[in-house]
Amino acid sequence: MILVLKTGVTEAEIRAIEEAVRRAGASPILVEGKERSVVAVVGSAKVEPRDFELLPGVSQALRVTKPYKLASREVKSEDTVVRLGEISIGGERVVVIAGPCAVEGRKMMLETARRLSEMGVTMLRGGAFKPRTSPYSFQGLGEEGLKILAEAREATGMKVVTEVMSPDKVELVAGYADVLQVGARNMQNYDLLRECAQIRKPILLKRGLSATIDEWLQSAEYVLQAGRNREVILCERGIRTFETATRNTIDLNALPVLHERTHLPVIVDPSHGTGVRSCVPPLAMAAVAAGADGVMVEVHPDPDRAVSDGPQSLTFEMLERLLRDLEVIAPVMRKRLDLSTKRPAPRPAGARCRAEAAAFQGEHGAFSEKAARQFFGDFVKTSPTLSFRGVFEKVASGECRYGIVPIENTLGGSVHQNYDLLVEFDVHIVGETKLRVVHSLIANRGVRLEDIRRIYAHPQAAAQCEKFLRQRPAWSILQVYDTAGSVKMIKEEGAMDAAAIASTDAAARFDMEVLKEGIESDPRNYTRFLAISREPARSGDKVSLVYGTANRPGALFRTLEVFARHKMNLTKLESRPIAGKPWEYLFYVDATEDLSDRRLAAAIGILRKHTTFLKVLGIYPSAS
Ligand code: PEP
Ligand code: MN
Repeated sequence: MILVLKTGVTEAEIRAIEEAVRRAGASPILVEGKERSVVAVVGSAKVEPRDFELLPGVSQALRVTKPYKLASREVKSEDTVVRLGEISIGGERVVVIAGPCAVEGRKMMLETARRLSEMGVTMLRGGAFKPRTSPYSFQGLGEEGLKILAEAREATGMKVVTEVMSPDKVELVAGYADVLQVGARNMQNYDLLRECAQIRKPILLKRGLSATIDEWLQSAEYVLQAGRNREVILCERGIRTFETATRNTIDLNALPVLHERTHLPVIVDPSHGTGVRSCVPPLAMAAVAAGADGVMVEVHPDPDRAVSDGPQSLTFEMLERLLRDLEVIAPVMRKRLDLSTKRPAPRPAGARCRAEAAAFQGEHGAFSEKAARQFFGDFVKTSPTLSFRGVFEKVASGECRYGIVPIENTLGGSVHQNYDLLVEFDVHIVGETKLRVVHSLIANRGVRLEDIRRIYAHPQAAAQCEKFLRQRPAWSILQVYDTAGSVKMIKEEGAMDAAAIASTDAAARFDMEVLKEGIESDPRNYTRFLAISREPARSGDKVSLVYGTANRPGALFRTLEVFARHKMNLTKLESRPIAGKPWEYLFYVDATEDLSDRRLAAAIGILRKHTTFLKVLGIYPSAS
């Protein structure tokens, strides 16, 4: 049973509710959520809803229909996001865990960690204790392997995932690992699961070879039941079927089913799932397309010589290619691939900013806020601001360490105002992120499509939904400078003849109805956002510039020649009239390069000679 708490419930009331649950012979577990908090009543005692319904602070007592409670969406409607420092698992990012099947030795493990870390992989795997089908196969290096993993973490900053096989080793493994894996063969080792419930480290729970989804979730429940460990990451790793062409069969059906039944993050292991190296990249991509929160893959410096699972291990080159492909697929699923090489610099010592916050334009629920979360992670504090200028002001004054602004949309083009602000303010571009923008028509509950006469929309949003709006010429369009804000306005007005154009997130936030989802003129509708800060990025492969040239034959050509000579790839060149100077133009240029800092500085030095004005807006890691 769950006891749904009233909003505004007091601490004392919660203590009294917990006491009442204990008196009834059950255990209370408080689950706090953004939308609602509940007390789960767990244990084998028979309890009746009416025993609790009248307690102050309880709004409802509900029976949970599933055999698992704490793992269910009924208890917690919002996604659980497991946080490991700057890494989030679950929510709006896609995590990659990579490494060899087993820790074979110090040299290979450190070399592997170094290569993976250079590619931006944030989590390292490797078994020190190996569950092998044959007792004569390599059984792992044991504690020695754990020490090597800890050394690899020290050297690279990656987080370590490794398997624990028996209850008496949980404490030992937890002393070295960031995430403890419970392997497929141990999914129903209840003593092991109970021991994992006592620690405060996330558990990566693999699906048993012949376990149903409900059995798997009940195993997760074992970890959650004590109320101490709230963090389980589920890992689909293929199940036994009649098919023998591959080692196992990955149950991709499980992804949407799980996302409906549980709030826990779900990742996929296509290495054990297929057992075949060439099958790993396609299934990793399919997993992300099916909604996985991440993938775990085996990688080896020399797969053909691997001590275990060589045939399913990727080479570094294969992984590098896969990461590029996943970077493209993630935004389609409205997520972002989490690579450390694409993150902004850590906060320097002595920085004077008050908060690790990101300013964005609009109300909570705006696309810019989603972009901020996608780029920085769910832990970022987002700070809503009325105007784009406001975002720049908050960053320049140090009120927020970061800002996020849209710069270009695939249907609407460049956001010139933000280019102008980038020139005006002393801030740097520190990164970029691409967001697929899906617009929905949103109205108050009870409003039907045929009741609509007025549309509240951001001009950019209206432009992106031009086809849909053109087919409805009777609607009048009112301009609002914020997508989520337009939802808020019709809600506050109680308008029964109006609708807003915004994201489904904004609809959920204001508890409004989505009348139609996906009204943008082309489904390939992406907005590129820039992250800005007072401090420049650590490094990057992309440079953004704005410059002007003299009004002379060949002037623009002279500048472009510099890029060609330095083998820099121009990815964007756009000209725009300079306000107040008719027939004079500014050029926005983006280029990707593989130059050393020194060569890039030299190239910029030459450019300065051929331009009348030049500003480097930022050197930062590109998003694919
Ligand atoms: C592993 O990930 O190393 C492993 C042995 O996986 P599974 O338990 O899924 O077979
Ligand atoms: Mn393996």
